[in-house]
Amino acid sequence: MNKDSYEAMLAEVQAFHDKHDFKNTGGEEMAYRIALMAEELGEISACVTKGKSTQELAEEVADLFILLMGTAIAQDFDLKQAFWAKMEKIMKRESKMINGRIRVSEFRD
Ligand SMILES: [Mg+2]
Repeated sequence: MNKDSYEAMLAEVQAFHDKHDFKNTGGEEMAYRIALMAEELGEISACVTKGKSTQELAEEVADLFILLMGTAIAQDFDLKQAFWAKMEKIMKRESKMINGRIRVSEFRD
């Protein structure tokens, strides 16, 4: 398996879950996982507000990415399939400049 493939990365996250038996120890409960993801998002935010290095930012983004992949394991959905389905949708969306920043959305209203 290509070490950089999604499948290899997912297998490693699965091994991490198995190592600590997340399935039977609360590690796959969604409310807890959401709190952990919010915690990592806060750490990403702190990298920006505290002017931390790109390397530190990358580590915190990786923490969140691992949690996202683990959430796909916990909830038994195919994140790779969901990624491509969503990319196909958003690539077709329009963008608007709002308060000086670009926003890509469906702009329903
Ligand atoms: Mg972190």
